[in-house]
Parts: sequence; C-alpha cells; structure tokens
Amino acid sequence: MTATHFRTCPLCEATCGLAITMDDGQIAHIRGDDADVFSRGFICPKGTAVKHLQEDPDILHAPLVRGADGELHQATWHDAFRAVEHGLAPIIEQYGRNATALYVGNPSVHSLSATVMLPALVKSLATQNYYTAASVDQIPKHVSCGLMFGKPELIPVPDIDRTDYLLVLGANPWVSNGSLATAPDWPGRIRAIRARGGKVVVVDPRRTETARKADEHLFIRPGTDVFLVLAMAHALVDEGRVDLKGLLPHVAGLEDLSHLVAPFSPEAVAPATGIAAADIRRITRELANAPSGSVYDRVGVHQHRFGTVASWACDIVNILTGNLDRPGGRMFPLPAHGFPDPDAPSGRGWRTGRFSSRVKGHREAYGQLPVATLADEIITPGEGRVRALVTIAGNPVLSTPNGRRLSDALEQLDFMVAVDPYVNETTRHADVILPPPPILTRHHYDFAFYGLSVRNVANYSPPLTAADGPDEWEILSRLALVANGQPVDGDASVVPSLALHSVVQKATAPGGSLAGKSVDEIVAAVEHRGPVERILDVRLRAGPFGDRFGDNPGGLSLAVLEDNPHGVDLGPLTPRLPNALKTASGKVELTPAEIVEDLPNVERAVDDVPEDLVLIGRRQLRSNNSWMHNVPTMVKGSNRCTLLVSPADATRLDLVDGRSACVRSRVGEVEAVVEICDDMMPGVVSLPHGWGHDLPGVRMDVARAAGGVSANDVTDEGLVDPLSGNAVLNAVPVRVHAAAVAVP
Ligand code: SF4
Repeated sequence: MTATHFRTCPLCEATCGLAITMDDGQIAHIRGDDADVFSRGFICPKGTAVKHLQEDPDILHAPLVRGADGELHQATWHDAFRAVEHGLAPIIEQYGRNATALYVGNPSVHSLSATVMLPALVKSLATQNYYTAASVDQIPKHVSCGLMFGKPELIPVPDIDRTDYLLVLGANPWVSNGSLATAPDWPGRIRAIRARGGKVVVVDPRRTETARKADEHLFIRPGTDVFLVLAMAHALVDEGRVDLKGLLPHVAGLEDLSHLVAPFSPEAVAPATGIAAADIRRITRELANAPSGSVYDRVGVHQHRFGTVASWACDIVNILTGNLDRPGGRMFPLPAHGFPDPDAPSGRGWRTGRFSSRVKGHREAYGQLPVATLADEIITPGEGRVRALVTIAGNPVLSTPNGRRLSDALEQLDFMVAVDPYVNETTRHADVILPPPPILTRHHYDFAFYGLSVRNVANYSPPLTAADGPDEWEILSRLALVANGQPVDGDASVVPSLALHSVVQKATAPGGSLAGKSVDEIVAAVEHRGPVERILDVRLRAGPFGDRFGDNPGGLSLAVLEDNPHGVDLGPLTPRLPNALKTASGKVELTPAEIVEDLPNVERAVDDVPEDLVLIGRRQLRSNNSWMHNVPTMVKGSNRCTLLVSPADATRLDLVDGRSACVRSRVGEVEAVVEICDDMMPGVVSLPHGWGHDLPGVRMDVARAAGGVSANDVTDEGLVDPLSGNAVLNAVPVRVHAAAVAVP
C-alpha cells in the first residue's frame, strides 16, 4: 500500500515540510511538501537523507554496555539502565553533584521529547558542569540579547521577506539555510529581496555561495567584524544619521552611545578590517537610507574573542537605523507555544556570572559553562573534578576546540553514558550508549525554532512508524530518576507528569493566560495524549494564538495542528515592543555594564598586528556539523574536507592544488588536501568542521571511509569570549606548509 505523509524536516533550523511516500512500510521517496505553509515545496539535499538516517545499518537499535573485556556489547534496555544506575549513582553519592557533567549537542534541539524533558534532567543532575553546543556556536547572541532585552531567548530575527537591505556578516545562509533566523528556502528569499529592488551585501573572508548571489561582497579579516559594526555605529552618530523612529521612548542609554563608539571611526578600523573607510561609511549610509534594513550576524561574528560585543554592536546598528521591531528590520517572533504570556512584563532582567568554572574561572552564561573547558574539569585533580559525563546527541570530540585533548580526557572518566544513535568519535568512550528511537518514529514540533522564525507558523508531525525501544522522553526521564537517587526502573512517567503540572500551574496562576481555570480541569483535558504531547497541547492552547481551553473558540491546539499536516500560518511578524521586554527598566538596555567594560579591550585590539595566516571554518550544503557523514549521498562529489587557500598564499607557501598540506596551530596539526580557490581572502585558509571519522572504535563505515580531518584538532581550547564563554573557532593563527606525501 502506498501513502504519502507530511512532516517537518528535523535536520536543521529551516523547518522545511517533507512529503514522504511510504510503500508497504518502506520509504519510497522524499520530496518537498508543496502545500507546506512555510517552505512551499523547498528542500535542500539533506532533506532526502532522512530516508538513509532512518535506515542506516550503523544506527543502534539496542543499547550498548561496556563489558569486562573493555568492549561495547549489545544489551537489553533493562541491563543498560541498571548499568547507568551502577555507574552514575555512586559517583554522585560519594563525590557530589559537581562530579558529574552534562553535554548536550545540537540535534537535541530538533527533538520534541528532548526539548521538553531536558530541563528535568538538568535540574535533577544539578551540576554546575552543564555544557551545550551553544558555547561553540551562538551563545554570544543569547548573552547580548539577554542583557539588552532581558531574556536570552528574545532574539530579533531579520525580517527577510520584507526587508529592503540585508547586510550579512559571517553567515552563509545560501548553504546553511539560516541560523537564529528560521526560514526555509533562503536562496529564494534572497533572490526575492533583489527582485523587489532591495540590496544584499555580504561581508566575509571568503566569497561564499551567498556572497556570489549578493549585490556586493566585501572581504574582511577574520575576527574583526566587531570593529566594522562599531565603526558603522560611529558613522551613524558622526554623520547625524541616528534615527530610532518609534523606538526612542523604549530605549535606555542612548546618550552614552556616542561616547562609547567614538574611538571606532571607519578610518581607525579600516587597516584592521581590511575594508576601506569609504566603503564602511557607504554601506552604513545605504543601510540608514533604505526604507528598511537588517544587519544579520552569525557564527563568523560570534566565534571570536569579542563575539558578544560584536553581536551587541550589530543590534545597536539595527536600533540606530530605526530597524528594530519594525517590518523589514529585525523583529521578534511570537511562537504559538509562547508561555505563559510572552508579552507580559516581568521586570526581573537577566545576568551572567552566577558561578564560575572550577579550573579556569570562566563565568557562567545562560546557565552553562564553556565546553572549551570541559577537558580541564575532567583532567585537573581536586575537589569537584568531573568523574562522570552524560552526553545527549553530542560529539564534542569533533565539534569543540582541541578535540584530541578532550578525547584523551574522556578516557580518564570513571563513567560515561551517551544518548546517541551512533558509536562516534565521542560515544566510543562511553560505558553505556542508549540509542533514541529512529528519526521517523519520533513526533516533532520545533519549540526552539518557532521562536526564531521569520514568520509565525506552527506545525506538528506525529510519529510515522512505531519504535521498538523506549521513547526519548523515557530515556531522559530514567536518567533523571538516577540523578535524583531514585530506582532507575521506577515509574518514568512521573517526570513528564511533574513537568506538565508545573506548566499548568504557571498558566492557571493569577495573571496567567488560563487564570481562573483549575489545574485538574486542564490536566484532565489533555490526559488522553502521550506524556510529551500533553505538555505541547497545554502550551499551544495557553499560548498567544491558543483556544484557551474554550475561552477562545477557533484558537490553536494540538488537535488543530493534527488536522493541518502542512502547518498553520499565523502571519507575518508584528511589532512586540515594549511589552516583550523583560529588562528591569522595561526598556531596551543599549549600554549593558558587561559590554561597556569590554569595550576598552576591543579598542586596544584595533592596533594588534594581524596574524600572517588564520584558519576559518565553512558550512557545506551536504554536511550538518559532525553527524551526517554516514549518509553516502552526503559525502559524494564536491562535499570534501579540503583546505581552501587563496592563489597568493598557495604561491608564497609553495602549495599545490590536490596535494596535501600540514596545518599547524598552538595545539596540534592536521594534514589536508589543498584546494586553491580565488574565493579566499589572502592570509586566510578554511577547513570545514565535523570531519575526521577514522578513529579507533568508531562504527560509522561510510563516514570512516569519507576521509577528511577534524578542524577542531587545531582549534584552541584556551581561547574564549569571556562574556559568553564561546570558543574562538574562527581566526585561529596557523602555519601551513606542503606535506611530504599527498593525502589520497
Ligand atoms: S534546509 Fe534544513 S530543514 Fe530544509 S530540507 Fe534541508 S536540512 Fe531539512
């Protein structure tokens, strides 16, 4: 029997709709869902890889437990959970909660069960050693937005469907399909900006795929975006172009800004950035004069020593040009599950530095410590040394700086449990691996990405096939039970039940969107659903578009989403300020103390002598961080782990296209195939990250054979942005020389 099912692609932030045709229980083919309200048929090549990810012979379908022979062996779920209890509980009891660490990788944010249940696990472990992929990616944006708007999740996104001017810094959305700005089909949306007479400008040390399709591309020295955007703010003040439009009554600190940006004139920063002062002033004028515009900043801006200041400065430029909270500028999405009332004032504000890491004293940000320091916490003796590690959907050996050092450190753990479908470069160190159910047996709703969406939409996908093992909510709940000192085989449903009651209590409290209703009444109304769907249903129904359990007939609920498999369009973004602000002042804080204190360091760095050669990363259309290289169609053709080198650097370093080169940094050395490419700025080389799967014990045959090296064997764990803890993964100083023998 043939049937077509519609579901949201769970692989990246774009949330495209997939149409999956099943033939007698097997996936026949996957294409874009033409009727999807958001993606309208668009998918990228990764979308079709869902079939392989579902059927990959290397995916685990049963847990693995390390035996007395030191090898990982298949085990029953009962024995695997018992092994977790025997490994984890005594460490907590003997050494305390900070002897454990938790690392959560990027794919978990695409899992409905993980998103809903992770807070319970974090709370149960109650360790300060909590790390996520955010500290090698976007945490500077969370910190700058937390300080400016009062909530780290309150991130304005570029309103690309209505903008007249898009300035892209350190992002390559033509290939990545956007990040911290959820939108399927960035290529189509960029084309549309130009087709309606708008302008797209890309600033990047590489002429990226996005840059090639833009109106203009400017090379910039890696790590200097902070100078560029501060110079743009300077130019706006200097040339009298500051115009906040309707935002003026809702900002605090405007009078201090001109003094703070005074040292960063375009003329002062031009030598450091490599961009002429006249060009900096020109693009600033173009942005200011455009009917609407947006500065869009991503990893190339955030993975630096001044990532948080740079992120802040980008939004300062958006604000000074009147482009915050205005159609075509940067706007705040209103997610359907926003809860209890996203526009209710709170007035508490937000801060970082509530505690520090044991070894290096890195400050906490967003409840986390920098993953760059995880190895330090494992290998450094003393009270509070990390002895047990829990990883959820993460591969930090490939995705965090100085991965080799971390890999060695993992061998020193007393116990490690990983929730992961693969035996990869990180999980090969685990004592127990608990595989989540295969990708199409999971239900799906994008809690994280509808809060970052360029249009308000909602879409729910039920499981497409049945799973053999426990759902991810049960796996995480049992880990939470152990962390709480309870028997691992206790009633796992207690954990989501507590989470549900917490949500309902908030919604029904005075001032909540369900105030006046009883907790029992709400709980009973969703009781027929699974543990995770109950929580989703309450959040949808209590949310800004919700049916409020009968008070708003026709409003949203999980049942409505089930009746609309192509999603529900909730319309374009609308202005949300000042109500959405959660700062203590109730205003946008333009000059947070943490930022102001770091600005003198930025000023001193303007005159630093540039490094001779620096390494940057790059995004590839058929890669998704470290975990899609086991899909044969994803590692074919042009998707290769090569070292991009400019012709000028190739000549001066005696490098030959197709031959191998050694890339050496303070922490290590890798050997990669050279690809001479005039898209590279001289003085800059590029390696993609997530490659290098041929380590002992890895059970991913296609990935092992794909070759490549891990860029994070040369990135430096000692370099972080002190305000956010984000690793410095771009602008890494390196030496490159021709290798003696070509890499096949
Ligand atoms: S762009 Fe992202 S969401 Fe869309 S098909 Fe590709 S991987 Fe899936």
